[in-house]
Amino acid sequence: MEFKVSELEREPIEFDLELPPGAVDFIDEAEQVGMLATSGLAEVIHEHRGPKEIVPDIRLRGKFAGKFQVPCARCVEPVETPLSAEFDLIFRPAGVDIEAPERSITAPETEIGYYQGDSLALEDVLREQVLLSLPVRTLCTPECKGLCPRCGANRNSQPCSCDVGPSDPRWTALAGLRSKIKS
Ligand SMILES: [Zn+2]
Ligand SMILES: [Zn+2]
Repeated sequence: MEFKVSELEREPIEFDLELPPGAVDFIDEAEQVGMLATSGLAEVIHEHRGPKEIVPDIRLRGKFAGKFQVPCARCVEPVETPLSAEFDLIFRPAGVDIEAPERSITAPETEIGYYQGDSLALEDVLREQVLLSLPVRTLCTPECKGLCPRCGANRNSQPCSCDVGPSDPRWTALAGLRSKIKS
């Protein structure tokens, strides 16, 4: 769904949607399971920067809720993770702050996004908001044994015969190195 500035200038647009998996590309960070519900309001806020310069910012307020599969940080098995959050965001026309860099300092950079051309895609906003709401570390269970650093077996389901001393810090360092080389 695209919010066009020219349409928002006429009146704010309310949205209430259910997006199927695939509508938003979450890269490899998370996989959407079932519908992603989202609702909210888009409107134009005129930012007066001088007697003649008026910047049409898009303010997008809303929320989302959906189920996702996120890889376990230890064994990489998918973990079903419900995610939901509210957002209240401001988007400026791309390029507007490049021409007046000294003015962009007033607002905290992280709070301001930019839209290209004359419209903002809801899907782009949702991708960012969903990824931001991901837990820092997802585990399938708190006791997850993870992958064997030597043979790569999932030690939750198939105990391997590798003799790995987890207390030896040299092995941990090697395992970390190995997984870095693999990826
Ligand atoms: Zn796990
Ligand atoms: Zn093993």
